[in-house]
Amino acid sequence: MDNYIIQPQSGIRIDVRKGQRIEIIDVEGGQVADFFAEIKGTHDEYVSPSVTIDCNETIKIEVGSIIYSNQYKPMFRVESDDVGAHDLLFPSCSKNMYDFFYQNGLNHPNCLDNINHALGTERTIIQPINFFMNTVVDENGKIQIKKPLSKAGDRIVLMALVDCVLGISACSVSECDTNSGRCTAIAVKIR
Ligand SMILES: [Zn+2]
Repeated sequence: MDNYIIQPQSGIRIDVRKGQRIEIIDVEGGQVADFFAEIKGTHDEYVSPSVTIDCNETIKIEVGSIIYSNQYKPMFRVESDDVGAHDLLFPSCSKNMYDFFYQNGLNHPNCLDNINHALGTERTIIQPINFFMNTVVDENGKIQIKKPLSKAGDRIVLMALVDCVLGISACSVSECDTNSGRCTAIAVKIR
């Protein structure tokens, strides 16, 4: 088993093989993990939340859910989940997002840069699976970001269905409830 710690407001690259289990652990609780992945050997096929919504016919991720690529290929299956609230709607935080909402993007750590750096890419936007992010949509379509429901040590476990390269970031938003107002670490175990 390989153990990784993603320090607060930073990102990591992890190569995984088909059949391996990926445990993503909220170390202290209340922290979002931006999860992105490419099919091994290409930058052109990668995790797609919108395709995942399309294929699963839901905006929720739960045990048994498949996470699909932008080319409609199954990439991961959810094996277990301690939390039950994850987000498929929001892009990774970025300099532009911090500028838009808080006018503080310059030199602010952000998940877009963290994941691009991890994967050696220069994407202008990344749409990840935001594990532990607690997005609530009301009947009028209004969206609220609430504090994550995850407690210390809570985890979600995925099975890799293809060889792939993960780019995961411990989200760096401290300005609102996304990460409960403080940024903490994410642990990852591969087995
Ligand atoms: Zn972020």
